[in-house]
Amino acid sequence: MAMWNPWRGCHKYSEGCKFCYTHKGDFKRNIDTNVIVKTDKFYAPIQKTKKGEYKIKSGQTVYLCFSSDFLIEEADVWRDECFQMMKDRSDLHFIFLTKRIDRFMDCIPDDWGNGYDNITVGCTIENQAIADDRLSIFSKLPIKHKNIICQPLLEKIDIKQYLDHIELVVVGGESDYHARPLNYDWVLSLREQCKTKNIHFEFRQCGTHFLKDDKKYTLTVRQLCSQARKANIDF
Ligand code: SF4
Repeated sequence: MAMWNPWRGCHKYSEGCKFCYTHKGDFKRNIDTNVIVKTDKFYAPIQKTKKGEYKIKSGQTVYLCFSSDFLIEEADVWRDECFQMMKDRSDLHFIFLTKRIDRFMDCIPDDWGNGYDNITVGCTIENQAIADDRLSIFSKLPIKHKNIICQPLLEKIDIKQYLDHIELVVVGGESDYHARPLNYDWVLSLREQCKTKNIHFEFRQCGTHFLKDDKKYTLTVRQLCSQARKANIDF
């Protein structure tokens, strides 16, 4: 597994951005997240060692743009070069998440066709209104590998009608002292929807405030993923 952040910075865009970890981290370091800048890792996938070998070893999954949104407007002038690098590194699999799926068709390169084999796109949603809005677009897009990321999940949602051709649904809560609670019933509901459609499901993290069986739990950051794993409901 490798990370690749060709640029950094982002603007809050919808409800799910309220406690964005990029904004929180930048605030502590006195960095203005709203300024989108290229990083010195821009060419990371094609950088080589002195021996002439790629620094990012073959066969890995590369998580792309996890301190920004790959489809953010300011990166329009840089994105084509990134697509070219991903095409050149067909020995790697790239995954990016976006809340700006409505921009997708304006962002892809001319030779995209039905999608590159080595790119997974994750459409992020947080409530029913946004699910209906983004997934109705996402479901029609030419993408070879599609995931739906329900994180932070803010209410019970029904996405059954959008699950065709989806490979994985990920669910998670919000992390912050003031986070909105995650109800375990919402997680189980999504799990059932995936089961019905035979789609892989992953409960990735609890919320800081977690409701289960009418009890409210407050979890530390460390517990968020480990408690979700303990639920043992992935498939
Ligand atoms: S889109 Fe993602 S990176 Fe951008 S502000 Fe929202 S949560 Fe943060």
